[in-house]
Amino acid sequence: MTRSITILGATGSVGEQTLDLVRRNRDDWRVVALTANGNVEGLARLAREFGAQIAVVADETCLDDLRAALDGSGIEAAAGSSALCEAASRPVDMTVAAIVGCAGLGPVMAAIEQGGTIALANKEALVSAGEVMTAAVARHGATLLPVDSEHNAIFQCLQGGRIEDVRFITLTASGGPLRLVEDLGSVTPEQAVAHPNWDMGAKISVDSATMFNKGLELIEAHHLFPVGLDRIRIVVHPQSVIHSMVEYRDGSTLAQLGPSDMRVPIASCLAWPQRMDTPCKPLDLAAIGELSFFAPDEQRFPATRLARAAAEHGGAAPAVLNAANEIAVAAFLARKIAFSRIPVVVESVLSNGELPAAPRTLEDVLRVDQDARRCATRLLEPA
Ligand code: NDP
Repeated sequence: MTRSITILGATGSVGEQTLDLVRRNRDDWRVVALTANGNVEGLARLAREFGAQIAVVADETCLDDLRAALDGSGIEAAAGSSALCEAASRPVDMTVAAIVGCAGLGPVMAAIEQGGTIALANKEALVSAGEVMTAAVARHGATLLPVDSEHNAIFQCLQGGRIEDVRFITLTASGGPLRLVEDLGSVTPEQAVAHPNWDMGAKISVDSATMFNKGLELIEAHHLFPVGLDRIRIVVHPQSVIHSMVEYRDGSTLAQLGPSDMRVPIASCLAWPQRMDTPCKPLDLAAIGELSFFAPDEQRFPATRLARAAAEHGGAAPAVLNAANEIAVAAFLARKIAFSRIPVVVESVLSNGELPAAPRTLEDVLRVDQDARRCATRLLEPA
């Protein structure tokens, strides 16, 4: 049976890998909407290849170019944030949410309001909106499937189990490319994005290097799997073979293993509750040889400590943490600040006066996000 699919952030790393799976199973899927920020050429190429109904760019200045690139194809072209939300609200069987950053929140919420199935890669949206998003999922009868490899692993380990029987959830972390680098102050963007195991977009690669990725994932796990924050642990596992684990009250620990290839968790979401083929290499444990585990070093990488504190505080704190991190990462990638300043900026924004009241609506979350961005930007200005 053919199913309809929309991919938000189609031109990115997760978007392209999703489309790689769709390409291999063309008869199973009908593509409705594909979106990007400003990559007109990439988006138009994909929209034509997959015969999308509509292609949308977030950047309104790109609309004329998108129209020109789609001329004669019969594919609708649109631009801007309300066009993104309109495209995301077209009813489909599956929405893959793969925009990077809180910019993806509006479209994800629009998809949730349709009550469909959302494969969520865009962790910043869930971190920022927290209960606002989970309440909307419940209210609209939507289904949220985690694409993030760790959360997808936990989701798989929970099949057939009861959340009340979970003693601990353990998120594994590769430790990123800088785990053993001594001088974090002189790290360049090129070094920070050179992840040893995964090939990902620039922002999440920097987040992996700072460990903010694991911090965001801790908050994400807290919303997806309600076991209590004190039951969610992090362990550094440099080989990225075990993607996460669930320990039950009887002492059994279930782990999900697989190659470091995002097409595995993406395929798990696309086919759920069944399974589908992927071109991923089979796991060769004898070739891998050893699996090792370490406690995270929160002195050198304070991100997980900051994220846990924000999650414990709740309310607006995770949205503030996320927004400050997005601004600091962008400044680092633009070579405006040192790598080691990223957590300093985030901590300064979090402790800059009273935190705003807990957001209750999407508009509240977006306001908190914008205010925290302004605060972080001010802190980055030269004195
Ligand atoms: P990329 O940077 O590779 O791609 C991001 C996508 O979002 C692109 O399509 C980009 O369009 C679009 N985009 C960027 N900014 C905006 C904006 N302001 N408005 C609308 N669209 C925008 O990111 P990744 O694919 O690496 O990551 C996407 C999400 O998935 C992130 O939240 C990340 O944390 C999560 N994730 C990623 C993994 C990975 O392996 N890459 C693994 C697990 C989670 P354009 O091309 O035009 O810039």
